[in-house]
Amino acid sequence: MEVKRVGVVGAGTMGNGIAHVFARSGYQVLLCDVEQRFLDRALDTIGKNLDREVAKSKITADDKSSALKRIEPMLERRKLANCDFVVEAATEKFEIKSEIFRDLDRICPPEVILSSNTSSISITKLAALTKRPEKVIGMHFFNPVPVMKLVEVIRGLATSQETFELVRDLAVKLEKTPVEVNDAPGFVSNRVLMPLLNEAMYAVMEGVATPEAVDQVFKLGMAHPMGPLTLADFIGLDVCLDIMRVLHYGLGDPKYRPCPLLIKMVDAGRLGRKSGRGFYKYE
Ligand code: NAD
Repeated sequence: MEVKRVGVVGAGTMGNGIAHVFARSGYQVLLCDVEQRFLDRALDTIGKNLDREVAKSKITADDKSSALKRIEPMLERRKLANCDFVVEAATEKFEIKSEIFRDLDRICPPEVILSSNTSSISITKLAALTKRPEKVIGMHFFNPVPVMKLVEVIRGLATSQETFELVRDLAVKLEKTPVEVNDAPGFVSNRVLMPLLNEAMYAVMEGVATPEAVDQVFKLGMAHPMGPLTLADFIGLDVCLDIMRVLHYGLGDPKYRPCPLLIKMVDAGRLGRKSGRGFYKYE
């Protein structure tokens, strides 16, 4: 099946980036969220990020306006019935994603592949909610989507080879590098990354070092471009907590216990860059 129209469910940090890269690569995009203000914010962000690409001569001003014209924001999910492919990028909560997958399965024609950008939730479990488990797959982009090259392509237990190949080829068409991964909590990226960020938070909580000092150690000692606490703020502390909970529950090992400081900060609404405050303060 040739993909021309792509539905993106969720217009947050990741959804707007995913809409951006599909539209830039010539796909029609239907971008769906639950409130108009989230759609407005997403289009504003996409416009600014495309401007940045124009300034760096990666694309022309005409490419920018054509890409923006290809994105149709919407609140009614039923309009996704006209899509050839869907990426779900809504909040990292199983209840939210399960409602979306059940609904997409009702709305979209049976040949349409339903993918999820989930960071940690089981693709096999999402697939089992649908009547097309062979057409459900993980397409895990990285933040910021227009910049990061990697896409983890995650096979659920029932994902067909045909579905896998279509999504792998789609990632290449978006100028990304697909890496094949099997379904397991956190896949590869977050199974390894999140415990590192969580441990950095324990170091701060226990007074081993300040956030600045922890980040310096990783930047200067391990050549990480960003320290773990800056990265956690960038990802969103709520997203980090959701992922730690999935690892803890899914793998059943206490070593994945979310850091109490992380829980406290999320409870306080300190979600990192997106809320203006996390381990650091943002303008
Ligand atoms: P976010 O909070 O920035 O955005 C989530 C969006 O989903 C919000 O705009 C919210 O209104 C919308 N939403 C919630 N329920 C919805 C529904 N029923 N229908 C449509 N939209 C709905 O979160 P995010 O960081 O963009 O994360 C989205 C997904 O991407 C999550 O599964 C997350 O784990 C994953 N992810 C995040 C990152 C990251 O660095 N933030 C990286 C890779 C993957």
